Amino acid sequence: MHIDKIYRDTKIVVNLDQIAENMKAIKELMGKDVSVMAVIKANAYGLGALALAPVLVENGAEYLAVATLTEAIELKTAYPEFPVFILGHTPDRYLHKVVELGITQTVFSLHQAKLISKLSGDLGRISKLHIKVDTGFHRLGNYPDKNFAEDVERMFSLPDINVEGIFSHLALADDDSDKKQFEKLCKFIKLIEDRGYKFKYKHIADSIACVDSPEFRMNMVRPGALIYGMKGFHKGNINVESGITFTTAISQIHKITKGEGVGYDYLWKAEKDSTIATLPFGYADGYPRQMRDKGYVIIRGQKAKLIGVLCMDQVIADVTEIPGVSEGDEAIIYGNGLDGSMTIQEASELVGTNKNDIICRLSSRPPRVYIKEK
Ligand SMILES: *Cc1c(COP(=O)(O)O)cnc(C)c1O
Repeated sequence: MHIDKIYRDTKIVVNLDQIAENMKAIKELMGKDVSVMAVIKANAYGLGALALAPVLVENGAEYLAVATLTEAIELKTAYPEFPVFILGHTPDRYLHKVVELGITQTVFSLHQAKLISKLSGDLGRISKLHIKVDTGFHRLGNYPDKNFAEDVERMFSLPDINVEGIFSHLALADDDSDKKQFEKLCKFIKLIEDRGYKFKYKHIADSIACVDSPEFRMNMVRPGALIYGMKGFHKGNINVESGITFTTAISQIHKITKGEGVGYDYLWKAEKDSTIATLPFGYADGYPRQMRDKGYVIIRGQKAKLIGVLCMDQVIADVTEIPGVSEGDEAIIYGNGLDGSMTIQEASELVGTNKNDIICRLSSRPPRVYIKEK
């Protein structure tokens, strides 16, 4: 996780001050009546959940969300006081862990609510749950029908549990279908609340929806990508910036003559006498192999195209046009774009995927180096 010594030039620099600014901007846009559940699943999209969690809590996150029990245990062990929520399903046989550590669990069956109630009673605890409603995504949750409403009411009457929240997830298919999903959730909540039960938290909006559709904010939102500075919104706006720089340094420079091939299968051939630079990063660091013929890095403020097949641990860039280029020069792989560097957004477009996929692909090999000046 945290590496004090770095034995290679390839690293991911995470600017915690920028992450703090992003979190503050989100909290400010949502206002005092909307709680922010910061999504730091998958080790905070690969940036390091343990390093980011206190920064987020200090700057307005009321809850931290992860996908799995393993992720929740890691967080709760380091920060027993932080409220941690599991977005995913936890199998029955591990629910005792959820109860023991005081983790808030997603629940969509009376069966699991009963189990958590029993385990909580045995340990003298009160466990919190959020009910997951399937409003159309069909991934997790139950249909908002009468039967489920009755089950939820029964959950409220179980001892030693607190039915703290209710939520759903948008498919973001289009405005119309999002609205339908939202209305289904609201109708279901009303059905239950009209019978005298109350949910403290109600939520449906992720990063995109919480910026683009203020009407979906309810009283809690669940942004992930936004925290890290990835801008997926279309209609609204918020001032967040990337907190990540993926960099390396040139390990070797070769001079080659016109007609020579480079790398596996000689898939790139020099059209003229060229200068090429070897860079110590590859697809094992999480850089997409599909970047062949598309990828570039920034060296001395200039674009250097990656050439030939991208290898597991090394890639080669054409630096012929960069005056003074030297071994040891920094090469920016992903940056904030202001210096011409490739953004996560651009990377995702070049390889035909989305931003979250690009950022999650960054493997554990390049160390995360944290900057915190404020
Ligand atoms: C991952 C996730 C989010 C956060 O998604 P972003 O697009 O990164 O904001 C919110 N809610 C659920 C249920 C998720 O799985």
